[in-house]
Amino acid sequence: MLKLKKHRYYYFILLTTFVIFNNILLCQKNQEFLTTKIKPGDGITLLLQRFNLEISSFNINKFKELNQKKISSKEELFLHHIYKLPILTLDYDPINFESMIESISNVSPQKVLDFNNNLIEKGLIKKDYKSGKKIYIPLSFLKNQTVKIDDEKTEEFNTGEELIYDLKEKKGEFKIFGEKYSRLTKKSSTFKGFIFYLVSGHGGPDPGAIGFKDGYELHEDEYAYDVTLRLGRNLIENGAKVFFLVYDKNDGIRDEKFLTTSSKEIFSTGDTISIYQKERLAKGSDIINALYEKYKKNAKEQISINIHLDSRETKQKIDIFFYHQDNDKKGENIANILLTTIKDKYDKNQPGRGYKGTVSTRNLFMLKNTIPTTLYIELGNIQNERDQIRFIEYNNRQAIANWLFEGLKKSFFQKK
Ligand SMILES: [Zn+2]
Repeated sequence: MLKLKKHRYYYFILLTTFVIFNNILLCQKNQEFLTTKIKPGDGITLLLQRFNLEISSFNINKFKELNQKKISSKEELFLHHIYKLPILTLDYDPINFESMIESISNVSPQKVLDFNNNLIEKGLIKKDYKSGKKIYIPLSFLKNQTVKIDDEKTEEFNTGEELIYDLKEKKGEFKIFGEKYSRLTKKSSTFKGFIFYLVSGHGGPDPGAIGFKDGYELHEDEYAYDVTLRLGRNLIENGAKVFFLVYDKNDGIRDEKFLTTSSKEIFSTGDTISIYQKERLAKGSDIINALYEKYKKNAKEQISINIHLDSRETKQKIDIFFYHQDNDKKGENIANILLTTIKDKYDKNQPGRGYKGTVSTRNLFMLKNTIPTTLYIELGNIQNERDQIRFIEYNNRQAIANWLFEGLKKSFFQKK
Protein backbone atom coordinates (compact mmCIF):
# COMPACT_ATOMS: atom_id res chain seq x y z
CA MET A 1 0.00 0.00 0.00
CA LEU A 2 2.68 2.36 1.09
CA LYS A 3 4.82 1.41 -1.86
CA LEU A 4 2.08 2.15 -4.28
CA LYS A 5 1.51 5.53 -2.79
CA LYS A 6 5.16 6.38 -3.18
CA HIS A 7 4.99 5.19 -6.70
CA ARG A 8 2.01 7.35 -7.39
CA TYR A 9 3.69 10.30 -5.85
CA TYR A 10 6.70 9.77 -8.05
CA TYR A 11 4.47 9.53 -11.08
CA PHE A 12 2.76 12.67 -10.11
CA ILE A 13 6.05 14.55 -9.99
CA LEU A 14 7.17 13.14 -13.29
CA LEU A 15 3.91 14.04 -14.89
CA THR A 16 3.94 17.56 -13.53
CA THR A 17 7.47 18.22 -14.68
CA PHE A 18 6.58 16.85 -18.06
CA VAL A 19 3.58 19.13 -18.28
CA ILE A 20 5.56 22.12 -17.08
CA PHE A 21 8.42 21.61 -19.51
CA ASN A 22 6.13 20.91 -22.37
CA ASN A 23 4.27 24.04 -21.50
CA ILE A 24 7.47 26.02 -21.49
CA LEU A 25 8.02 24.94 -25.04
CA LEU A 26 4.47 25.20 -26.22
CA CYS A 27 3.33 28.32 -24.50
CA GLN A 28 6.43 30.43 -24.57
CA LYS A 29 5.27 33.47 -26.42
CA ASN A 30 8.62 33.97 -28.00
CA GLN A 31 10.60 30.91 -28.66
CA GLU A 32 14.19 31.89 -28.73
CA PHE A 33 16.49 30.52 -31.37
CA LEU A 34 20.20 30.64 -31.74
CA THR A 35 21.09 33.25 -34.37
CA THR A 36 24.06 33.84 -36.60
CA LYS A 37 25.35 36.43 -39.02
CA ILE A 38 25.96 35.42 -42.60
CA LYS A 39 29.47 35.28 -44.03
CA PRO A 40 30.34 35.60 -47.71
CA GLY A 41 29.54 32.37 -49.52
CA ASP A 42 27.17 31.04 -46.90
CA GLY A 43 24.21 28.96 -47.96
CA ILE A 44 21.65 27.00 -46.01
CA THR A 45 23.54 23.69 -46.00
CA LEU A 46 26.83 25.35 -45.14
CA LEU A 47 25.23 27.03 -42.15
CA LEU A 48 23.62 23.82 -40.94
CA GLN A 49 26.95 22.04 -41.24
CA ARG A 50 28.77 24.74 -39.36
CA PHE A 51 26.37 24.28 -36.45
CA ASN A 52 26.63 20.49 -36.55
CA LEU A 53 23.09 20.05 -37.75
CA GLU A 54 22.21 17.21 -40.03
CA ILE A 55 21.55 18.20 -43.64
CA SER A 56 18.05 16.76 -43.54
CA SER A 57 14.92 18.04 -45.17
CA PHE A 58 13.60 18.59 -41.63
CA ASN A 59 16.40 21.03 -40.76
CA ILE A 60 16.33 22.75 -44.13
CA ASN A 61 12.58 23.26 -43.93
CA LYS A 62 12.72 24.54 -40.36
CA PHE A 63 15.47 26.95 -41.33
CA LYS A 64 13.32 28.27 -44.16
CA GLU A 65 10.31 28.52 -41.91
CA LEU A 66 12.28 30.56 -39.38
CA ASN A 67 13.76 32.92 -41.94
CA GLN A 68 10.99 33.22 -44.50
CA LYS A 69 11.56 36.84 -45.35
CA LYS A 70 15.29 36.58 -45.70
CA ILE A 71 15.74 33.93 -48.33
CA SER A 72 15.79 34.83 -52.00
CA SER A 73 13.76 32.94 -54.57
CA LYS A 74 16.98 31.13 -55.48
CA GLU A 75 17.40 30.18 -51.82
CA GLU A 76 20.29 32.57 -51.37
CA LEU A 77 21.02 34.23 -48.04
CA PHE A 78 21.84 37.87 -47.58
CA LEU A 79 25.18 39.06 -46.29
CA HIS A 80 25.30 40.68 -42.87
CA HIS A 81 21.77 39.65 -42.07
CA ILE A 82 21.00 37.71 -38.95
CA TYR A 83 19.43 34.28 -39.34
CA LYS A 84 17.70 32.02 -36.87
CA LEU A 85 18.94 28.47 -36.69
CA PRO A 86 16.64 25.51 -35.95
CA ILE A 87 18.22 25.39 -32.50
CA LEU A 88 16.11 26.33 -29.53
CA THR A 89 17.62 28.33 -26.68
CA LEU A 90 16.46 27.35 -23.20
CA ASP A 91 17.46 28.38 -19.71
CA TYR A 92 19.91 25.96 -18.19
CA ASP A 93 18.90 24.75 -14.77
CA PRO A 94 21.50 22.24 -13.46
CA ILE A 95 19.10 20.61 -11.02
CA ASN A 96 16.32 19.83 -13.46
CA PHE A 97 18.42 19.54 -16.56
CA GLU A 98 18.29 15.78 -16.96
CA SER A 99 14.61 15.38 -16.26
CA MET A 100 13.82 18.27 -18.54
CA ILE A 101 15.79 16.80 -21.43
CA GLU A 102 14.19 13.43 -20.85
CA SER A 103 10.74 14.90 -20.92
CA ILE A 104 11.09 17.08 -23.98
CA SER A 105 13.58 15.36 -26.23
CA ASN A 106 14.27 12.12 -28.00
CA VAL A 107 17.95 12.08 -27.17
CA SER A 108 20.00 11.61 -24.02
CA PRO A 109 21.04 14.55 -21.84
CA GLN A 110 24.65 13.66 -22.66
CA LYS A 111 23.99 14.12 -26.36
CA VAL A 112 22.59 17.57 -25.71
CA LEU A 113 25.64 18.48 -23.65
CA ASP A 114 27.95 17.18 -26.37
CA PHE A 115 26.15 19.35 -28.87
CA ASN A 116 26.63 22.40 -26.64
CA ASN A 117 30.28 21.64 -25.97
CA ASN A 118 30.89 21.40 -29.66
CA LEU A 119 29.42 24.87 -30.25
CA ILE A 120 31.86 26.25 -27.70
CA GLU A 121 34.82 24.40 -29.21
CA LYS A 122 34.01 25.83 -32.61
CA GLY A 123 33.65 29.32 -31.16
CA LEU A 124 30.04 29.56 -32.30
CA ILE A 125 28.79 30.58 -28.87
CA LYS A 126 30.72 32.56 -26.31
CA LYS A 127 29.63 31.03 -23.03
CA ASP A 128 29.06 27.42 -22.10
CA TYR A 129 25.89 26.33 -20.36
CA LYS A 130 27.44 26.55 -16.92
CA SER A 131 28.49 30.18 -17.14
CA GLY A 132 25.95 31.39 -19.70
CA LYS A 133 23.01 29.50 -18.16
CA LYS A 134 21.67 28.74 -21.62
CA ILE A 135 21.34 25.40 -23.27
CA TYR A 136 20.96 24.93 -27.00
CA ILE A 137 18.87 22.10 -28.38
CA PRO A 138 18.38 21.37 -32.06
CA LEU A 139 14.70 21.19 -32.94
CA SER A 140 15.41 17.78 -34.43
CA PHE A 141 16.16 16.50 -30.90
CA LEU A 142 12.74 17.47 -29.61
CA LYS A 143 9.49 15.59 -29.30
CA ASN A 144 7.50 18.68 -30.04
CA GLN A 145 9.00 20.27 -33.09
CA THR A 146 6.54 23.01 -33.86
CA VAL A 147 8.01 26.40 -34.42
CA LYS A 148 6.33 29.53 -33.24
CA ILE A 149 7.19 32.50 -35.31
CA ASP A 150 6.65 35.78 -33.60
CA ASP A 151 5.60 38.61 -35.85
CA GLU A 152 9.14 39.99 -35.70
CA LYS A 153 7.97 43.41 -34.62
CA THR A 154 10.85 43.64 -32.22
CA GLU A 155 13.28 42.94 -35.00
CA GLU A 156 12.61 46.17 -36.83
CA PHE A 157 14.85 47.97 -34.43
CA ASN A 158 18.55 47.67 -34.14
CA THR A 159 18.97 44.09 -35.07
CA GLY A 160 21.72 45.02 -37.44
CA GLU A 161 20.00 43.40 -40.33
CA GLU A 162 17.36 45.72 -41.69
CA LEU A 163 17.75 49.44 -41.94
CA ILE A 164 15.83 50.90 -39.09
CA TYR A 165 13.76 53.38 -40.98
CA ASP A 166 11.67 52.53 -43.94
CA LEU A 167 8.00 52.46 -44.75
CA LYS A 168 7.31 50.01 -41.97
CA GLU A 169 7.33 52.92 -39.57
CA LYS A 170 3.96 52.99 -37.88
CA LYS A 171 0.96 55.25 -38.37
CA GLY A 172 2.60 57.67 -40.74
CA GLU A 173 5.03 58.80 -38.09
CA PHE A 174 8.72 58.76 -38.79
CA LYS A 175 10.94 59.57 -35.86
CA ILE A 176 13.96 59.94 -38.06
CA PHE A 177 12.65 63.29 -39.32
CA GLY A 178 12.52 64.82 -35.86
CA GLU A 179 9.52 66.07 -33.98
CA LYS A 180 8.50 68.90 -36.26
CA TYR A 181 8.66 66.82 -39.42
CA SER A 182 7.76 63.37 -38.14
CA ARG A 183 4.18 63.35 -39.43
CA LEU A 184 3.89 62.66 -43.10
CA THR A 185 0.97 63.16 -45.42
CA LYS A 186 0.33 60.86 -48.28
CA LYS A 187 0.45 63.02 -51.38
CA SER A 188 0.56 60.56 -54.25
CA SER A 189 1.49 57.05 -55.24
CA THR A 190 3.80 58.25 -57.98
CA PHE A 191 6.80 56.34 -56.70
CA LYS A 192 4.98 53.21 -55.66
CA GLY A 193 7.29 50.22 -56.13
CA PHE A 194 10.40 52.43 -56.15
CA ILE A 195 13.13 51.90 -53.61
CA PHE A 196 15.61 54.66 -52.87
CA TYR A 197 18.81 54.20 -50.92
CA LEU A 198 19.71 57.64 -49.73
CA VAL A 199 23.26 58.05 -48.57
CA SER A 200 24.20 61.28 -46.86
CA GLY A 201 27.92 61.81 -47.11
CA HIS A 202 30.22 61.04 -44.18
CA GLY A 203 28.99 61.00 -40.58
CA GLY A 204 30.10 59.29 -37.40
CA PRO A 205 33.77 60.03 -36.80
CA ASP A 206 34.07 61.72 -40.21
CA PRO A 207 32.58 65.23 -40.55
CA GLY A 208 33.51 65.48 -44.25
CA ALA A 209 34.44 68.92 -45.55
CA ILE A 210 34.40 71.80 -43.11
CA GLY A 211 33.51 75.40 -43.84
CA PHE A 212 33.47 78.52 -41.64
CA LYS A 213 30.83 81.19 -41.33
CA ASP A 214 30.24 83.84 -38.66
CA GLY A 215 32.37 81.99 -36.16
CA TYR A 216 30.63 78.67 -36.76
CA GLU A 217 32.02 75.51 -38.22
CA LEU A 218 29.87 74.08 -40.96
CA HIS A 219 30.24 70.32 -41.21
CA GLU A 220 29.41 68.65 -44.47
CA ASP A 221 27.88 65.56 -42.84
CA GLU A 222 25.26 67.60 -40.94
CA TYR A 223 24.07 69.61 -43.95
CA ALA A 224 24.13 66.62 -46.27
CA TYR A 225 22.08 64.69 -43.70
CA ASP A 226 19.48 67.45 -43.51
CA VAL A 227 19.01 67.69 -47.28
CA THR A 228 18.94 63.89 -47.54
CA LEU A 229 16.17 63.63 -44.95
CA ARG A 230 14.15 66.31 -46.72
CA LEU A 231 14.49 64.55 -50.06
CA GLY A 232 13.60 61.18 -48.50
CA ARG A 233 10.56 62.67 -46.84
CA ASN A 234 9.29 63.95 -50.20
CA LEU A 235 9.82 60.55 -51.75
CA ILE A 236 8.02 58.68 -48.98
CA GLU A 237 5.09 61.07 -49.14
CA ASN A 238 4.79 60.13 -52.77
CA GLY A 239 4.78 56.40 -52.35
CA ALA A 240 8.47 55.42 -52.43
CA LYS A 241 10.17 53.10 -50.01
CA VAL A 242 13.24 54.84 -48.68
CA PHE A 243 16.22 53.49 -46.85
CA PHE A 244 18.50 56.01 -45.20
CA LEU A 245 21.95 54.56 -44.86
CA VAL A 246 23.09 56.95 -42.16
CA TYR A 247 21.07 57.71 -39.07
CA ASP A 248 21.36 60.14 -36.19
CA LYS A 249 18.82 59.58 -33.48
CA ASN A 250 19.21 63.08 -32.12
CA ASP A 251 19.04 65.10 -35.31
CA GLY A 252 15.93 65.07 -37.42
CA ILE A 253 15.26 67.67 -40.08
CA ARG A 254 16.47 70.93 -38.58
CA ASP A 255 15.53 74.48 -39.45
CA GLU A 256 18.47 76.15 -37.77
CA LYS A 257 21.06 78.02 -39.74
CA PHE A 258 24.01 76.54 -37.97
CA LEU A 259 23.54 72.85 -37.49
CA THR A 260 25.22 71.59 -34.35
CA THR A 261 27.88 69.06 -35.08
CA SER A 262 28.09 65.61 -33.60
CA SER A 263 29.71 62.30 -34.32
CA LYS A 264 26.77 60.22 -33.16
CA GLU A 265 25.66 59.13 -36.61
CA ILE A 266 25.61 55.39 -37.19
CA PHE A 267 24.61 53.16 -40.04
CA SER A 268 20.90 52.68 -39.74
CA THR A 269 21.52 48.96 -39.41
CA GLY A 270 22.90 49.82 -35.99
CA ASP A 271 26.50 49.34 -37.06
CA THR A 272 29.04 51.99 -36.16
CA ILE A 273 30.62 54.04 -38.90
CA SER A 274 34.28 53.15 -39.11
CA ILE A 275 36.98 55.79 -38.86
CA TYR A 276 38.63 54.10 -41.81
CA GLN A 277 37.26 55.42 -45.06
CA LYS A 278 37.60 52.19 -46.96
CA GLU A 279 35.85 50.16 -44.29
CA ARG A 280 33.14 52.77 -44.02
CA LEU A 281 32.40 52.81 -47.71
CA ALA A 282 32.60 49.04 -48.08
CA LYS A 283 30.13 48.58 -45.25
CA GLY A 284 27.76 51.11 -46.80
CA SER A 285 27.81 49.48 -50.21
CA ASP A 286 27.43 46.00 -48.67
CA ILE A 287 24.30 47.12 -46.84
CA ILE A 288 22.79 48.59 -49.98
CA ASN A 289 23.74 45.61 -52.13
CA ALA A 290 22.20 43.14 -49.71
CA LEU A 291 18.94 45.09 -49.73
CA TYR A 292 19.10 45.43 -53.48
CA GLU A 293 19.25 41.64 -53.82
CA LYS A 294 16.43 41.24 -51.37
CA TYR A 295 14.08 43.55 -53.26
CA LYS A 296 15.27 42.80 -56.77
CA LYS A 297 12.32 40.61 -57.57
CA ASN A 298 9.60 42.98 -56.51
CA ALA A 299 10.91 46.51 -56.85
CA LYS A 300 10.00 48.55 -59.89
CA GLU A 301 13.19 50.60 -59.68
CA GLN A 302 16.04 50.72 -57.20
CA ILE A 303 18.10 53.89 -57.09
CA SER A 304 20.87 54.94 -54.77
CA ILE A 305 21.67 58.61 -54.27
CA ASN A 306 24.75 59.87 -52.45
CA ILE A 307 24.53 63.45 -51.25
CA HIS A 308 27.63 65.48 -50.49
CA LEU A 309 28.69 69.11 -50.24
CA ASP A 310 32.46 68.91 -50.31
CA SER A 311 34.93 71.68 -50.70
CA ARG A 312 37.17 73.20 -53.27
CA GLU A 313 39.20 76.35 -52.93
CA THR A 314 37.40 79.03 -50.98
CA LYS A 315 36.94 81.27 -54.02
CA GLN A 316 35.58 78.60 -56.26
CA LYS A 317 31.86 78.42 -56.50
CA ILE A 318 31.11 74.94 -57.72
CA ASP A 319 27.37 74.85 -58.21
CA ILE A 320 26.05 71.35 -58.34
CA PHE A 321 28.00 68.41 -59.68
CA PHE A 322 26.36 65.14 -60.67
CA TYR A 323 28.24 61.90 -61.10
CA HIS A 324 26.91 58.65 -62.45
CA GLN A 325 28.27 55.13 -62.84
CA ASP A 326 30.50 54.30 -65.77
CA ASN A 327 28.47 53.19 -68.79
CA ASP A 328 25.19 53.61 -66.98
CA LYS A 329 22.83 55.28 -69.42
CA LYS A 330 19.96 55.32 -66.97
CA GLY A 331 22.01 57.05 -64.30
CA GLU A 332 23.41 59.52 -66.79
CA ASN A 333 19.93 60.33 -68.01
CA ILE A 334 18.64 60.93 -64.48
CA ALA A 335 21.65 63.10 -63.70
CA ASN A 336 21.04 65.23 -66.79
CA ILE A 337 17.40 65.75 -65.94
CA LEU A 338 18.26 66.64 -62.35
CA LEU A 339 20.75 69.18 -63.66
CA THR A 340 18.34 70.85 -66.08
CA THR A 341 15.60 70.89 -63.44
CA ILE A 342 17.84 72.71 -61.01
CA LYS A 343 19.17 75.02 -63.72
CA ASP A 344 15.60 76.02 -64.66
CA LYS A 345 14.77 76.68 -61.02
CA TYR A 346 17.80 78.86 -60.55
CA ASP A 347 17.09 80.76 -63.74
CA LYS A 348 13.62 81.51 -62.42
CA ASN A 349 14.65 82.28 -58.86
CA GLN A 350 17.96 84.01 -59.42
CA PRO A 351 17.99 85.26 -63.01
CA GLY A 352 21.40 86.16 -64.31
CA ARG A 353 23.19 84.06 -61.73
CA GLY A 354 24.64 81.89 -64.46
CA TYR A 355 24.24 78.49 -62.94
CA LYS A 356 26.87 75.96 -63.87
CA GLY A 357 26.49 72.33 -63.10
CA THR A 358 28.04 69.31 -64.69
CA VAL A 359 27.24 65.68 -65.28
CA SER A 360 30.07 63.17 -65.57
CA THR A 361 31.28 59.84 -64.41
CA ARG A 362 33.91 59.64 -61.73
CA ASN A 363 36.02 56.98 -60.12
CA LEU A 364 34.31 56.91 -56.73
CA PHE A 365 33.93 53.90 -54.48
CA MET A 366 30.17 54.19 -54.04
CA LEU A 367 29.66 54.53 -57.79
CA LYS A 368 31.83 51.54 -58.54
CA ASN A 369 30.65 49.23 -55.81
CA THR A 370 26.93 49.66 -55.38
CA ILE A 371 24.79 47.51 -57.62
CA PRO A 372 21.67 49.66 -58.11
CA THR A 373 21.79 52.68 -60.40
CA THR A 374 23.76 55.13 -58.31
CA LEU A 375 24.10 58.88 -58.42
CA TYR A 376 26.54 60.99 -56.51
CA ILE A 377 25.70 64.63 -56.02
CA GLU A 378 27.91 67.44 -54.77
CA LEU A 379 25.62 70.25 -53.75
CA GLY A 380 28.25 72.93 -53.55
CA ASN A 381 31.41 74.19 -51.96
CA ILE A 382 30.99 74.43 -48.22
CA GLN A 383 33.88 76.91 -48.05
CA ASN A 384 32.48 79.30 -50.61
CA GLU A 385 30.45 82.13 -49.17
CA ARG A 386 27.91 82.22 -51.94
CA ASP A 387 27.41 78.48 -51.88
CA GLN A 388 27.10 78.55 -48.11
CA ILE A 389 23.86 80.51 -48.41
CA ARG A 390 22.41 77.52 -50.19
CA PHE A 391 23.02 75.40 -47.12
CA ILE A 392 22.60 77.74 -44.19
CA GLU A 393 19.06 78.84 -44.94
CA TYR A 394 16.74 75.95 -44.28
CA ASN A 395 14.38 77.15 -47.00
CA ASN A 396 17.19 76.67 -49.44
CA ARG A 397 17.92 73.19 -48.16
CA GLN A 398 14.25 72.40 -48.60
CA ALA A 399 14.29 73.93 -52.09
CA ILE A 400 17.20 71.74 -53.16
CA ALA A 401 15.42 68.67 -51.83
CA ASN A 402 12.23 69.67 -53.65
CA TRP A 403 14.06 70.28 -56.91
CA LEU A 404 15.87 66.98 -56.70
CA PHE A 405 12.51 65.35 -56.06
CA GLU A 406 10.96 67.08 -59.07
CA GLY A 407 13.91 66.06 -61.19
CA LEU A 408 13.49 62.45 -60.16
CA LYS A 409 9.83 62.62 -61.02
CA LYS A 410 10.64 63.98 -64.45
CA SER A 411 13.32 61.34 -64.97
CA PHE A 412 10.88 58.52 -64.58
CA PHE A 413 7.54 59.92 -65.62
CA GLN A 414 8.10 62.68 -68.14
CA LYS A 415 6.83 61.69 -71.54
CA LYS A 416 9.63 61.78 -74.04
ZN1 LIG B 1 31.80 64.45 -49.10
